[in-house]
Amino acid sequence: MRRVLLVVLLVACSRRHEPQPRKHVEEPKPEAKIARADFNRLAVRKNVPVFQLEDGTTVPLLFYPPYSGDAQAEIAKAAKETITDPRIQLVAKDLDQGRPTLVQTKVAPDEKAFVDHMLKVAQLTDEIYDQQTGAAMLADKLPADPESHSLFRRNRGVKCVAPATENDPSCSAIPGSPRQITGLYPTDIQAAPDFCKQLEAKPNAKELLTPFTVVQGDKPVPYSEAYRDKMGAIAAELEAAAGTLKDEPALVAYLRAAASSFRTNDWTPADEAWAAMNVDNSKWYVRAAPDEVYSDPCAHKAMFHLTLARINQGSKAWQGKLVPVQQEMEAAVAVKAGAPYAARKVTFHLPDFIDIVINAGDDRTPLGATIGESLPNWGPVANEGRGRTVAMVNLYLDPDSIAARRAQAESVLDAASMAGYTGTQEPQLLETILHEATHNLGPAHEYQVGGKTDEQVFGGPIAAVLEELKAQTGALFLLEFLRAKGLVSDDLARAAYADSIVWALGHISQGMYTGTKTRKTYGNVAAIQIGYLLDHGALTWDPHATAANGRDQGALTIHPDKLVAACDEMMKTVAGIKARGDVKAATELFAKYVDASTVVPHAVIAERFLRFPKASFVYSVTP
Ligand SMILES: [Zn+2]
Repeated sequence: MRRVLLVVLLVACSRRHEPQPRKHVEEPKPEAKIARADFNRLAVRKNVPVFQLEDGTTVPLLFYPPYSGDAQAEIAKAAKETITDPRIQLVAKDLDQGRPTLVQTKVAPDEKAFVDHMLKVAQLTDEIYDQQTGAAMLADKLPADPESHSLFRRNRGVKCVAPATENDPSCSAIPGSPRQITGLYPTDIQAAPDFCKQLEAKPNAKELLTPFTVVQGDKPVPYSEAYRDKMGAIAAELEAAAGTLKDEPALVAYLRAAASSFRTNDWTPADEAWAAMNVDNSKWYVRAAPDEVYSDPCAHKAMFHLTLARINQGSKAWQGKLVPVQQEMEAAVAVKAGAPYAARKVTFHLPDFIDIVINAGDDRTPLGATIGESLPNWGPVANEGRGRTVAMVNLYLDPDSIAARRAQAESVLDAASMAGYTGTQEPQLLETILHEATHNLGPAHEYQVGGKTDEQVFGGPIAAVLEELKAQTGALFLLEFLRAKGLVSDDLARAAYADSIVWALGHISQGMYTGTKTRKTYGNVAAIQIGYLLDHGALTWDPHATAANGRDQGALTIHPDKLVAACDEMMKTVAGIKARGDVKAATELFAKYVDASTVVPHAVIAERFLRFPKASFVYSVTP
């Protein structure tokens, strides 16, 4: 896995991953006004590219087919409609499990030309991506109904993807549920369920499975040949975009280098120019390239994507405050870790913080979104550790996501505990920064005890949980360190504790293991933290208390007077386990809090948090 920090940032992710309470859907009376949540949900169902804002106005959405109908009338009609076709019922059910969640960007007049060219790059990137996934080859089989077209658009293909429908074989955008054959490998070999293994066993497997080629017959064909026309068009748009920019030399250099790489399929020059960009020399974050392999069923081929974002300057202010005390923070963590760990000289490597404008190609997932990424994956920039890591910090901060997360929190915490919860960006940003910072503090990836790395001592999955647990525990422990120095206000510290607890509840609700029984790193981290706080009196669970929503019986109470001591103790336990390579103490934490429900009320948390649909991002760029 090359995206260690991606996982890191999933911390921030689920923290912002919580959807909005679906307003109870009643059959509207003929003239009844449609609730905003229903309006937006029905717009998705009918593939209508509009989103209603809180003030009742609508904005147009990107990444939909051209639309010329009467959106209001169509949605009003949909509100009264009963779907009878069983397949379309399933399709609608899949769509309804996503809560349309707006990523809205206002573009200044002098930015418009640049953004317009990037929108063309986005469209071409989507077209190549659809060929890679095989969606493009099925598009002409879509039936006429708008629900099927919308599913195909949102899900990037024929399949249903939401929890209640993904395993239903008849849930498909196309009657008969045809299999989607990827464009990355020859069609005939994909009939075999183990075709990836067959490819990997071929004598020329190494050559066939390089990331920037498709396999045709028994030969690897460079992307720049397989997708020559579209990649050439992207190159031209990137150059045109570069031509619109003033005072952006680093970005201009990258766009030109990327254009060249789209023509030659040699991605190293683009990566070099990309790595030279940073928060100080550009106000934009742009990455146009084939990068991640997760969407290839064989996980070998890099999928095309475009990330266009603005650099968020918020991280720089925090970095400026923390760098002067980084050595003191290391000393504080080292004291908690204890022997044989000894404090060392540390430097912070904080990610670039970005505000997403658009996600195209492999970036635009049906539900949820990537909230952290480290790139590139190959070549000298990757091998020499000169890549960039980003955190997407503007997602899940729209009014709907904020309301949803608050409603989830109010279903588990009592009213007094909710007083500290703000739902604003600052505590989340601070916790993400402290989490990242703590990866550089105490026993870190290069630390060895008795000549062994943490993976050798604990095994990979447990070691991964412990490192993330250390980082997230640092995010709690360091709050008091910074508050005592006057770098963090009392209110911000209080909000950050509450936010971190809600973050942890969100991860617990997602379960401790995947369907294939692998550990969910953040779920495990979250359960250990909540369990630890419960056992140390900083949290209490009262089965007779009423949650802050006034409805649910059984609630958690935060005890602010006990948080500091409990987080100190947690830091000591967790950093100590890593310092000593203490397998026994680690095993106890997992047994007590992850694999048992005697301390952590896993089922209750899951039931309450999972009442809410997942975010499904839609994008709008307006003047
Ligand atoms: Zn992390």
